[in-house]
Amino acid sequence: MRDLPSTVENVVILGSGCAGLTAAIYAARANLEPLVVAGVEAGGQLSLTTDVENYPGFPEGILGPELIERMRRQAERFGARFVAGDANAVDLSARPFVIEIEGEPRRTRTLVICSGASARMLDVPGDRRLLGHGVSTCATCDAAFFRDQEVIVVGGGDSAMEEALFLARFARRVYVVHRRDELRASKIMQERALSNEKIEFLWNTHLNEVLGESQVEGVRLWNHETGSRWDMKIDGVFVAIGHIPNTAIFENQLEMDAQGYLVPQNPGRSLTDVEGVFVGGDVHDHIYRQAVTAAGAGCRAAMDAERYLERIGEAPSPVAGAASK
Ligand code: NAP
Repeated sequence: MRDLPSTVENVVILGSGCAGLTAAIYAARANLEPLVVAGVEAGGQLSLTTDVENYPGFPEGILGPELIERMRRQAERFGARFVAGDANAVDLSARPFVIEIEGEPRRTRTLVICSGASARMLDVPGDRRLLGHGVSTCATCDAAFFRDQEVIVVGGGDSAMEEALFLARFARRVYVVHRRDELRASKIMQERALSNEKIEFLWNTHLNEVLGESQVEGVRLWNHETGSRWDMKIDGVFVAIGHIPNTAIFENQLEMDAQGYLVPQNPGRSLTDVEGVFVGGDVHDHIYRQAVTAAGAGCRAAMDAERYLERIGEAPSPVAGAASK
């Protein structure tokens, strides 16, 4: 890393999705002047979705990118600062912590990690291009748009079964496309999906292309057992082949589970195994993964960071109107 700057941040927030921006709002209102590292996937997964109908307070729904933009403006209004790009390295053994952002080192007393998890994509022609236009990675978010339509779910794990079962409440027909003839999902989830009359399984089948110009119109499939290849008309494609938490830079520095998700030290809290480092959002939650749960976790992390700064005697003195509620 280059020479260290003399300034020390109160709090650096990694990530500018729902969790990071909520942490930024709380930290900024607490007069901590947080520095938000927006990340190359700025705005997180919400910025990849279209309509959001389940975020409280928007009875008509709101576009994901607009919701994110509003949160960012709200954070900026209270003094949050943003830098573009990603954190490339971090040293949590140093005090203050050292974090390198696009090659530029910064020092900070606390770190709030809201770097999220990225949905694993198929990386076939069309899947990323049509994300938010018929391709989705979240049935809870988007199933209601496919009422009485036909959709595909790709994957054979618990997520895929859960997505298929949820979609079956809305869609006319749900096809699960799985690359093997055996599911990875737990027995109970398998049984539920296999016994659902609306769900049909296409075994040993690969989705090779998502078809459509500006909206999903169909898919190109290939069965490796029979060798047959065919195009199928479909209204939606749900990719449920797992998520990858964005935690690579914390390897050997923070406790993670086998899949790389960060592990909070106490249930319901945001504390990690390194004092002064807090976590919020999908980077530690592979169960709920909702905008509203991420926002709540971001709030928790910022409040924990503020309390920690107070405890070590580094909290800035409050200014009128800026203290946290
Ligand atoms: P997962 O268990 O890793 O399953 C991923 C599935 O996607 C597998 O069936 C895999 O196929 C398939 N896949 C991976 N890459 C693929 C590719 N490039 N092309 C086609 N298919 C591909 O992931 P998950 O279902 O997201 O679950 C993650 C963890 O969360 C698991 O521990 C799961 O039990 C847990 N979870 C639990 C619940 C619940 O209990 N309600 C719900 C969701 C998730 P193969 O089988 O051939 O490898």
